[in-house]
Amino acid sequence: MKFVIAMIRHETNTFSPVSTQLSDFRRGTGNPHGPSFGALARQACEGTNSAAAAFLDLAQAMGAEVEFAVCASAVPSGLVARDAFETLASALTDSARQGCDAILLDLHGAMVVDGIQDAEGELLRRLRACTPPGLPIGVALDFHANFSEALVRNASVIAGYCTYPHVDIYETGARVGRTIRAQLEGRVNPVMLWSRLPMLTHMLKQTPSMQPMKDIMDLAMEAERSGQLLNASVFGGFPLSDVNCAGLSTVLIADASEVAYAEQLLTQLTDMAWERRADFVFPSEPIHTSIAYAKTLQEGPVILVDHGDNCGAGGTTDVMAVLQEVLAQGLEDVVAGPFCDPAAVEHLFVQGVGASVSLNVGGKTDLPALHLQGQPLPLCGVVEQLTDGQYTVTGPMFTGIKLSLGRTAVLRVGTSVRIFISERPQEPYDTGVFTHAGVDPAQCKYVLIKSRQHFRAGFEAFAKHIVLISGPGVCSSDYDIFPFEHLNRPIYPLDPGTTRSSEVRWSSAPQAALAT
Ligand SMILES: [Zn+2]
Repeated sequence: MKFVIAMIRHETNTFSPVSTQLSDFRRGTGNPHGPSFGALARQACEGTNSAAAAFLDLAQAMGAEVEFAVCASAVPSGLVARDAFETLASALTDSARQGCDAILLDLHGAMVVDGIQDAEGELLRRLRACTPPGLPIGVALDFHANFSEALVRNASVIAGYCTYPHVDIYETGARVGRTIRAQLEGRVNPVMLWSRLPMLTHMLKQTPSMQPMKDIMDLAMEAERSGQLLNASVFGGFPLSDVNCAGLSTVLIADASEVAYAEQLLTQLTDMAWERRADFVFPSEPIHTSIAYAKTLQEGPVILVDHGDNCGAGGTTDVMAVLQEVLAQGLEDVVAGPFCDPAAVEHLFVQGVGASVSLNVGGKTDLPALHLQGQPLPLCGVVEQLTDGQYTVTGPMFTGIKLSLGRTAVLRVGTSVRIFISERPQEPYDTGVFTHAGVDPAQCKYVLIKSRQHFRAGFEAFAKHIVLISGPGVCSSDYDIFPFEHLNRPIYPLDPGTTRSSEVRWSSAPQAALAT
């Protein structure tokens, strides 16, 4: 028995001006310069909270040989360069061509490549074309995956994260692996059923731990837990993507004997999502209103979450508008960041710890898709610390992986505002962004971070209050500001009168059980 395993993960915000190169696919790969291959890739994934780690454990449990084709994961950003995609895709298809009994993929599901809107669909299409018909291909996807017909047609088994923040990544790989194993052992004939609704949900309203999504995800998870379905996944979708396959999808994997039940459940789940579509819209308020409200809160820590410029969804992490308002309204005992500004970091490292400095921070990136120009924030302060920005995640999301902010400076403004400025963007889903420099956010009155939902993994447990702030940027929750061109229209809520007639549905023929 032999498995080909690969991780290729990118969430592409097509409105971000930051293009994604091969060297950006270095997150958690064990190679500081980009993706890793073979033994190094395997080593980087083993024992981590990743779907690939679950695939490795499955291989071990089944005594299967592993060809680890590629480990590549980048922070969300703009379009992926075509040559980067071709390098990653070739590594995978080259491994697959050598022959195997199953392919197990740890993908995101919202990658967009320069010239290829549907990168995962293209990847699966190429894999199918170079492997024997009926080869089991199992795919673990992020909750924010957008689905094309090419993706579902060419995969055998698909499951997605049931959590946001994503803390069940390993478990998702294990769920895919269980079904692939059952197929390989001749116990099931999997059938896939898929629906995509014409609705863009707001990411702040998607989380399965809260309504309106909670009932829907609970129902799907219960169907899988009961054993009546092999896998059941609801995908919130990634709305900051100008592609024709964006939307809310549901994917069910049933044994051929349970197709009628699966069809009925698919209708029930999609009816619920469609009926609740208005509840998936997040109403924004002006920044100054949110900060003024935060100022009235007596007890900290108050987590101030700027969700308009979250690098976890493709933000540049250098939009300074919310920090500017925090300083203008005189909030005290604040830790803020990390803001990405390599030039400012270089300047602060040259100045050294203890130096009094005045400099412009952030605002280096224009956002032409939104007709916004970068606006640096002038700051005066003292360089309090300089670090290498390295830390290992101890929180529940991506537990155990090593992350790097690049060189990082802590600038103190006034007596009690500490601003983290780093060479690289990194969403703060783990407190390591601050604690690696000895600053404990749990001891601060205000914690200003750029995130949307993932911060909850590391910060919610000690937060007294959470204030969501609609800062400007390419992750804005105001979808009316985005110049969508490729999206399938009409789509809710951009087109309020959208009907369900443009829902896409597809189901596969039963796949053969494969025991020999
Ligand atoms: Zn996600």
